[in-house]
Amino acid sequence: MRRTILIARSLLIVAILMTLIAVRRLSKAPLMAQQDMWLQWTPPSPWKPNDRRRPLPPVITPGTASTQTSAGAPPSDAILLFNGKDLSNWESVNGGPARWTVGNGYFVVQHGTGDIRTRDSYGDYQLHVEWATPNPPHGTDQDRGNSGVFLQGLYEVQVLDSYENVTYADGEAAAVYGQYPPLVNASRKPGEWQTYDIVFHGARFDSQGRLTRRATVTIFHNGVLVQDHVEIKGQNADHVGPPYPPTPAKLPLRLQDHNHPVRYRNIWIRELKEVG
Ligand code: MG
Repeated sequence: MRRTILIARSLLIVAILMTLIAVRRLSKAPLMAQQDMWLQWTPPSPWKPNDRRRPLPPVITPGTASTQTSAGAPPSDAILLFNGKDLSNWESVNGGPARWTVGNGYFVVQHGTGDIRTRDSYGDYQLHVEWATPNPPHGTDQDRGNSGVFLQGLYEVQVLDSYENVTYADGEAAAVYGQYPPLVNASRKPGEWQTYDIVFHGARFDSQGRLTRRATVTIFHNGVLVQDHVEIKGQNADHVGPPYPPTPAKLPLRLQDHNHPVRYRNIWIRELKEVG
């Protein structure tokens, strides 16, 4: 009798174990199948592969690279934000015309006059900016060749003399200020022209003003990838959790007066259309 009970108990344990294994396999299979389906899913397209009815991309003339002595030409479909002669596309954030100083093919921050911004507004874009910090350099840390490119006037891409000048990581040149240090420090020497090539997508909000997608930015500093499609955490706010209040889809580009005579040249922008 006792032996029979032992055998029955053993059979029961084996049956329970087998059931557990079967249930686990069954529950895993649909999940894996779902993941496979998700990975293999591509958004529907009205075009077949190699479809000759599909509209061709617009033809443009690409630009030319800048050198230390002369600014390159922008792509033919770019909007020129600085024509090398005047600040007619810019205004002071304090009201009235931009009061920064224009030189031969460049302009320079006139300290104490305040930030300047474009007269027009932009949403998602490719932006090219060239800048040079003072030579000989003055000051250290954040007090050395400081300015900034504020995307949509909200999110600062730091401009700073970061050549052999130590500061905190998320305050270096090409940092998304206070949020993301650049992946590398690709700074040139003070006085040399440097480039930012930026791809920016603004934040999206629903009709109630609730955030549905954060702004994103990709940055090349002197041709080197330094920000790889990072999600901007919110509007600039020094070391304080920045909020994401609703903002218009298009806003002006802003340049910072940080009391340092930083020079700018060859600024152009290409607005991007929503894809897909
Ligand atoms: Mg700055």
